[in-house]
This record gives sequence, structure tokens and C-alpha cells, in this order.
Amino acid sequence: MSRRESRGGAAGAERAAEPSAPDLDAEWARAIKALNEAAEICLACHVRPDGDALGSMLAVAHALRARGPAERPTGSNPARIVASFGDLPFEIPRILRFLPGAELLSPPDVFPERPQVMVTFDAASADRLGLLEASASAAEELIVLDHHASNTGFGTVNLIDQGAAATAVLACDLIDRLGVEISRDIALGLYAGLVTDTGSFRYSATSPRVHRLAARLLQTGIEPGVVAHELWDRTPFGFLGLLSAVLDRARLEPDGAGGHGLVWTTVTRGDRFARGLPFEVVESVIDVVRRADEADVAVVLKEDDAGNWQVSARSKGKVDVGRACVALGGGGHSRAAGFTARGPAAEIMTALRQQLTGGPGGADEGR
Ligand code: AMP
Ligand code: MN
Ligand code: MN
Repeated sequence: MSRRESRGGAAGAERAAEPSAPDLDAEWARAIKALNEAAEICLACHVRPDGDALGSMLAVAHALRARGPAERPTGSNPARIVASFGDLPFEIPRILRFLPGAELLSPPDVFPERPQVMVTFDAASADRLGLLEASASAAEELIVLDHHASNTGFGTVNLIDQGAAATAVLACDLIDRLGVEISRDIALGLYAGLVTDTGSFRYSATSPRVHRLAARLLQTGIEPGVVAHELWDRTPFGFLGLLSAVLDRARLEPDGAGGHGLVWTTVTRGDRFARGLPFEVVESVIDVVRRADEADVAVVLKEDDAGNWQVSARSKGKVDVGRACVALGGGGHSRAAGFTARGPAAEIMTALRQQLTGGPGGADEGR
């Protein structure tokens, strides 16, 4: 299959939605062969990375770097490893700075323009790579590691399993297939991905397989209490005041989302600037808003420094927010999704309400 035939378009989307097992085996074999033969391997995860995106990528970066002569084809030299994400300024989110491997990262402006082999992590579409999107489209071999239902199949090799609780599950599979032993550094990255995407083993994707993988990772000696503290229990004092303000303006629409209830609020850049807070600290607001029992759907519109709205949507299961967000140009899963928009918040909410309530093309229409 040529590089162009194998990515994007309807064929790619179909393959992503329903990867048959033998097909996936062939994809794995092709990925491992490419990684074994490459002189340079370029890794990229989605913009504004979360624990799954950055944790999976760093775990694989550690594993590739750790490959000794025994794990590589006979006579081959170690590959050069480049790892990045497409944000400028290039800043590792504060809550992820405890992850080992910051020294393995480089900013997107020094990322190869035409990588021989590139691997993407937790990105459902090429535009989620931000400044690294062009490198992905120019890459000779593009290995896409992901678990989003909305994945467009934009790689030449698509390792997409929407049954996986996190991209970290696939990253662990990759590391096993490379024949590299799971070190503590690798385990920390994978564990961060697993706990982030399962909400600390609370969400419905938490399967026996998830707990078996967690047990295997903990076996290396990493401390789950430290990871949880770093990820969820640290925040600047100013966040408390911001949370108070944005919760106070939260609105409940009991008849919203097709009668299943909608709760939503906004976090403006003014809210943050007044308290000297960076964008990343407001990522957790959705975790409070979504607790409102009266609403199946929770939405937080977060204004970034450039004035774009980064919208987070969550569902308790009655409404497919993934479909609604895809219709508005975003992506995600049925219970956790998002999109980016510009303009007045009220207008964005009008468009979203329509998608959530089965208006023309709405999520309840069962398309
Ligand atoms: P978040 O609300 O940012 O935690 O994201 C929830 C899910 O939606 C994740 O799986 C993201 O990858 C996805 N997502 C969030 N924002 C976007 C966006 N602008 N475009 C595509 N997917 C998104
Ligand atoms: Mn992610
Ligand atoms: Mn993920």
C-alpha cells in the first residue's frame, strides 16, 4: 500500500473504527520493522498535552533510548530520538513536570521537517499536532498510536484501538513488542497516562486489563500516591478564587441535552489574568462541574491566551458528546470530548445545544 493510499479519507476512517485483529497484527509488524530500521525516530503527542499524551510519548522515548544491541537488529546503530509537541511557547504543563524525561524533549521549531519515521501519541487527527502537523504529513512512515473513536486514520500505520482505556495501553504494547523491559521511568509515563484517562480508575473504561497493567507498572516500584498528588492535588492559591467565580456562574438547563440535562460555565482569560494563572490550571474545572447530578452533559468553555475557546464536554452516558464535538470540528470519546471555537460564548453554546439536542444533524438523531 502506498503512503498516500493508506492515510486519511473514508478508507482510513473505516479502518480506524473497526480494526480487525489480523489487520492490526500486520500494522504492528510494519511499525516494529520501521522502528527497528530507522536511523532517526521522531515522536509527537497532541498539543497542550495531558498525562496520556505526554506520559505515553515519554515512556516510548525512554524505551527507544534504552534499546541495547540485544533489542535491535544485528549490526544496527542506536536511532536518534526526537520528541516534541506542537506548542510555542514550548512549555511542559506544570502538573506533568514530575515525569522523568524532560531532557528527551525538544521544541517543535527544531523538529525534522521530513521525518523518516514519526510516531504520534493520543492525537485523533493530524491538526491535533499543532505546529507538527506539517512534519506528520511529510513523514515517510507515520505511525499513529491512539484510542479515540474519532481517529481519522491519518497514519501510514494506524495502531488505533478504541477499546483501549488510554494511549498508554498501546504504548505499553509497543514497548513489549520492541522487547524492552519496563523500567521505573517507563512505568511512570505509562501509569500517568492510565490514571489520567481513567480518572484514577473511576471511569467506565476501567477494565480488568487496566488494573492488570496498573499492577504490572506498580511492580517496578513507582509510587501511586506521589503521581496522584502531582496530577490532582496541587494548585496555586489563586485557583480557589477562580473556581469560586466560575462555579457561581454555572448554569443548569434541566431540559437541555435532549432532556437529559446540561450544566455549563465559562472561564475567561480575564478570570485567569486577574489572578496570574496559566491556562493549564483551568483544565480541572470540568471535573467539578460534571458532578451536578441533574445533568448528563457538562460543558466548560475555557478561553486561552489567544482568545480562542477550548471547550471541554463530558457525558454520563446518555448523550454522545464525542459526536457533537466532532460535528463542531473537534474530537474525543463518547463521554469526554472537546473542540476549539472563536466568537461569543453564547453563540458557541447555541451551536453546541443544537448538536446535543438532536437539531439538524444533532447527536440524538442517531447518525
Ligand atoms: P479535554 O476536555 O481537553 O480533557 O479533552 C477531552 C477529550 O476531547 C480528549 O480525548 C481530547 O483529545 C479531545 N479534545 C479536546 N479538545 C479537542 C479539540 N479542540 N479537538 C479535538 N479533540 C479535542
Ligand atoms: Mn489526550
Ligand atoms: Mn488518551
